[in-house]
Amino acid sequence: ALSDKLAKIVKEMRGQARITESNVQDMLREVRMALLEADVALPVVREFIARVKEKALGQDVVGSLKPGQTLVSIVNKELAAIMGEGQAELNLNVQPPAIILMAGLQGAGKTTTTAKIAKLLREKLKKKVLTVSGDVYRPAAIEQLKTVTAQAGAEWFPSTPDQKPLDIATAALDYAKKHYFDVLIVDTAGRLAIDEVLMNEIRELHSTLQPAETLFVVDAMQGQDAINTARAFKEALPLTGIVLTKLDGDSRGGAALSVKHITGAPIKFAGVSEKIDGIEIFDAERHAGRILGMGDIVALVEQVTSGVDLQAAQKLAEKVKSGDSFDLNDFLMQLQQMKQMGGLSSLLDKLPGELAAKAGQMDMDRAEKDIRRKEGIICSMTALERKKPELIKAQRKKRIAAGAGVQVQEVNRLLNEFNQMQGMMKKMKGAGMMKMLRKLGGTK
Ligand code: GDP
Ligand code: MG
Repeated sequence: ALSDKLAKIVKEMRGQARITESNVQDMLREVRMALLEADVALPVVREFIARVKEKALGQDVVGSLKPGQTLVSIVNKELAAIMGEGQAELNLNVQPPAIILMAGLQGAGKTTTTAKIAKLLREKLKKKVLTVSGDVYRPAAIEQLKTVTAQAGAEWFPSTPDQKPLDIATAALDYAKKHYFDVLIVDTAGRLAIDEVLMNEIRELHSTLQPAETLFVVDAMQGQDAINTARAFKEALPLTGIVLTKLDGDSRGGAALSVKHITGAPIKFAGVSEKIDGIEIFDAERHAGRILGMGDIVALVEQVTSGVDLQAAQKLAEKVKSGDSFDLNDFLMQLQQMKQMGGLSSLLDKLPGELAAKAGQMDMDRAEKDIRRKEGIICSMTALERKKPELIKAQRKKRIAAGAGVQVQEVNRLLNEFNQMQGMMKKMKGAGMMKMLRKLGGTK
C-alpha cells in the first residue's frame, strides 16, 4: 500500500539533515509510484516530480520533522497548491442571464451536476435558474434533467429529440431573457468517447451562447484516461472550470491533478454523491491528502509525535529492563511527557496542511485538559499508593477522588488505563523494549 511506501521514505531518510541530490532520488521514486497508484497520468507525474525536486533540493529540514517527512510535506503542499490554483467561485458577473455550459463525456455527471448547481445557486445566492437539455440523442436524458431540475426547485425549459441543440439553446435563452432569469444552465449531449460531430456541436453552442462559465465535468474514477478527455475538451472549448464528480467512490482522485494540469482551469466543485445536494466546493488540501492516502497521514503523526521525548522514554526503558516494575509514578511521568511535547496543540504547526486539519479535529484542548486531570488524580495519591496501586480500593478511591475534585469513576478509569499500560510494559521487558523505542524515536 501507499502508506508503506511513504513510511519507507520517512524511515530511509532518518539521520540526514538535508534533502540532497543523492538522497532525494529514492524518495521521489516512491512518491512517483504513489501518484501513479492514485491514477495521475504519467506525463503529469513526471512534471510534478521535477517540480517537487526543485523545491526540495537543499531544503533544510524543519523543526522536529525528518527529511523524509519534509519531503512528504513538500509533496503534499505542492499538490494542494497546483490543484487549488485559480478562482473556485462561479463567475456570473455578466449581463443576466449568465450562461453555464456543461461539457464532458457521457456518464461524467453533467445532468446531475446541472441540477446540483441549480440548487446551490437558488438556495445560496437566491438566483432564478433555468435549465435546458441539448441532449437530443437520448429522450431519457431530457426527462432526467426535467426530474432533477424539479428536485432542485429550479425551472426546466422543454426540449424534444427532433430539435437541433442550437435551436433549443437559443429558444431557452430567449425565454430566460424574457422572464428575467439570472442563470441559464445548458446541459449537453453525452459522448462515450471523443466524437468529432459532438465536439463540433458543443463548439457551436459555445460560440453562439458565449457562456460565462464553461464547465468540464469529469468522473474522478476515470483514471489515466482523464488526461486524453481533458485535452480534447480543452482544445475544443475555452474551459473556465472543472467539476470533479463521484468523489464519494473509492478512487484516489488522481484525475484531479491530471485534468488541472492539462486544462489549467480551476477545479470549482466536487461531486460527492448522486443526490441533489451532493456537491461541495473543491478542497485542494483535502484532496492532496486523499491522493497521497490517508493512512500515511496517520503514520506521519505517529512519526512526528514519537520522536519527541526519547530521553525520558529511554530512562523508562532502562528501568523496565532492570526489573523495576512500572508504577503510577512512571505513569505520571509519561503523562507529563505527553504534555511536554510542546503542548499538543503546538504540534499542529509542525504538520503539513492536511495533517493539521485532521489533527485539528482531534480537539487538542480537551486532550490536554484530560492529561491535567489525570495528573491531578495521581497527585492526590500517597507515595505508597503510587508505588503499590493494587492497594487502592473503594475507600482510598473515594478519598483520592475528593482530593482531586473528580468522580470516583474517573479514578477507576485512570487505574484501568494504568493497568493496561503496566501490562504492555511487562510484555516489552528486555531487549524488545529498546528495539521498539528505537523504532519509535527514529535514532540509531
Ligand atoms: P451525464 O451523462 O454526464 O449527464 O451524467 P449523469 O448526470 O446522468 O450521471 C451519470 C451517473 O453518475 C448517474 O447515475 C448519476 O447518478 C451518477 N453521478 C453523477 N454525479 C455523481 C456523484 O458525484 N457521485 C455519485 N456517486 N454518482 C454520481
Ligand atoms: Mg446527461
